[in-house]
Amino acid sequence: MTKAVFPGSFDPPTNGHLNIIQRASSLFDIVDVVIATNGQKQYLFSQEERLEMMEKIVRPFGNVTLHLCGGLIVDYAEQAGAKVLIRGIRGVSDFAYEFDLSLMNHTLNSGIETLFIPTDQKYILLKSSSIKELARFGGDISGMVPPFVEAALLAKYGSES
Ligand code: ADP
Repeated sequence: MTKAVFPGSFDPPTNGHLNIIQRASSLFDIVDVVIATNGQKQYLFSQEERLEMMEKIVRPFGNVTLHLCGGLIVDYAEQAGAKVLIRGIRGVSDFAYEFDLSLMNHTLNSGIETLFIPTDQKYILLKSSSIKELARFGGDISGMVPPFVEAALLAKYGSES
């Protein structure tokens, strides 16, 4: 059984994340989606809120399960018995960052490889941070995130815009 790990903040999840999960789930027997719970990082959505949204995202995929991780992702992968980390790539700026990160992770644990999945063209501009910004100013984010994420963003920002 080949297992892959797809880590991220998912603050909030977007249709771009969903696309990567879908594609990873068809490539691997098992996919662990791992929500980062970095205590030093400021998230818009709490751990519980991100978990709740991600539960709805992964529900259709029988071989995808959700996990939380507050430490090093290579340590998570090692203890979960996964040899592959999946990262989505939207373009060259993602690549520059992700390439460095993959080298760092490989230095930490050479038994774990990072595989990049290039985004589908439709999702090239979808970034959690930009979507939050758009939502904050009342922009139309339908088509960028699932309806329940749109509703959660409206609930956060509804009174501001
Ligand atoms: P981070 O882990 O940097 O906080 P995210 O949680 O937003 O970032 O993303 C987790 C993973 O999903 C990363 O590999 C990121 O490149 C990828 N990703 C984010 N948005 C998209 C998208 N629109 N298309 C493809 N991959 C994406």
